[in-house]
This record gives sequence, C-alpha cells and structure tokens, in this order.
Amino acid sequence: MNLPLATVSKVLKFSCVDGPGNRLVLFLQGCNFACPTCHNPHTMKLCNDCGDCVPECPTGALTIVQGKVVHDPSICDQCDRCLDICPINANPKVTQYSVDDVLALLYQNKPFLNGITISGGEATTQLKFIIALFTAIKSDEKLKDLTCFIDSNGYLPEAAWKTVLPVTDGVMLDIKAFNNTLHSLLTTRQNERVLASAKLLFEAGKLHELRYLLIPDRTDSPEEIKELSSFVETLSTDLPLRLNAYQHHGVKGEALTWPTMKEPDVERIAAELQSAGLTNVVTPTVYI
Ligand code: SF4
Ligand code: SF4
Repeated sequence: MNLPLATVSKVLKFSCVDGPGNRLVLFLQGCNFACPTCHNPHTMKLCNDCGDCVPECPTGALTIVQGKVVHDPSICDQCDRCLDICPINANPKVTQYSVDDVLALLYQNKPFLNGITISGGEATTQLKFIIALFTAIKSDEKLKDLTCFIDSNGYLPEAAWKTVLPVTDGVMLDIKAFNNTLHSLLTTRQNERVLASAKLLFEAGKLHELRYLLIPDRTDSPEEIKELSSFVETLSTDLPLRLNAYQHHGVKGEALTWPTMKEPDVERIAAELQSAGLTNVVTPTVYI
C-alpha cells in the first residue's frame, strides 16, 4: 500500500508551546481558512508553480524544472524574499515527508520528547497523512509511548474527526469568534463546524485546550467574551482556555493597521472569565 506523503512547511524538533511537554512539531502547508491575522500567512496555500518567486531569489536557490519550482536548501540563505513576494501566500521551500521520514526523526530525538504535534497551516487538510503517521507511531514498540496531538482550526467535519480520533491523544482547537458574521470576516468561513468540533472533541475526551485570539475592537467585545464564557461553561468550567493576544508579528496586509492586544486588557478579560466561573484560563507570557 502507498502511504501518503505530507507537504511540510517547517519542522521543529523541540517545542514546549505546542502541547504538553517537549514535542516534535510538523507544520503542514495549506489551510482552509484565510485569516488576515495569521502570523504564518505563507503556510496558507499550496504552490501553483507560477514561477514569480524564482527570479527574485538572490542566491539562485529556486529553479524551474519541468514546470515545477524546485528549492535547493544547500544554497538558500533563508532570507524569505520568496515568501514575501508570493501572490497567493504559498511557500516554494516545502519538503515532502513520508511516514518513515517522520518516524526516523522521532527515533533520533525520542529521549527528549513527550510526543508529536501536527500543526499548520491547517493540519487536518492532510488528514490521510496524519492517520497513517499516528497509526504507525502507535504500533511501533519503541515510539508508542509518545503522545500524538493535532493543532486545528476545527473546520474538519464530524465524520472525518471520527477517522482520526482513535489514533489521536489530544487536540488544541482555535475558536476565532462566536458571532458568525465576525467569524466569516476573520476566517472566510462560518463557525458552526468549529463549535461542533469543540463539542465532539470534548465529549470524546480529546479536547486538550481551547484557544481564543483576542483582537481589539473585534473579538474582545463584551458580547463575544460572554459567548466565550457560556460556551466553555457548557463543556466544563475547568477546560483549559488559552487566551492569545493579537500582535503584528508575521502578519501581512490590512490587519497590520489593526491595533494589537495589550497585556492589561488581556488580564482584565481573563479576570472577567474567572469571575464567571472558568477555572483554567491561561494568558500569554510574552507580547510580541
Ligand atoms: S511559491 Fe508562490 S510565487 Fe513561488 S512559484 Fe509558488 S505560487 Fe508562485
Ligand atoms: S528564502 Fe527564498 S528567496 Fe531567500 S534564498 Fe531561500 S529560496 Fe531564495
């Protein structure tokens, strides 16, 4: 049987902010949202080989071979000019990883790891690869104690979640907004599936953490915070809720004119949520 390959934007061999403990993180290329606040916008789309970035590369690391853009990492200086210039928010520097490639990375680093997290882009746009990888990890005597997590925007439908949950230990899920018009403006999609995913994952015992991005004058309104509080309460008042604060780092376009979220306002909202009964509200440790 041919196992699927993953189109990977970046690999972090160690991360302590992408799930519990120390984790290897794969950032997959491609997303089904187009959030103006994304701090990795170059992970949104798959390259269409238009070639626009090739002549802009100062080191000649990009070439076109048989109509496909090819990246030579040995002469790339990581200036990211290709990412800045790409008209569709794609990345010519992606790498294809097989399940065996990732297993080899896990073997190399296993003494230092608690698990693996698949992030993005939107991880679940490459669901077949995730299922194949997690299945392989769980059936490998030397790797099966590593936990397998997904970082997701929650847009995956229920039936598809059910195919991956048996091999998944936990999911970190973003909720962008409760007002559906606002959610559409912030993501280009409606939020029903996201809210349904949160409920499904919670009921399956797989919702490790909810994340909510506070954006001044958009998602920090009293109405949104009340909806957030009520929604978490319907799941569990001690569900981990991570508040993130909108910053400009990595953002492209119009959202650079939006104000950033300041620490005192985040702390005020966290206190309001705690007063409403939520017991596991986490606030950012840095604001950059
Ligand atoms: S990365 Fe962007 S600019 Fe470069 S070839 Fe692909 S789509 Fe075109
Ligand atoms: S980051 Fe992109 S533009 Fe810069 S050297 Fe590498 S391939 Fe070329």
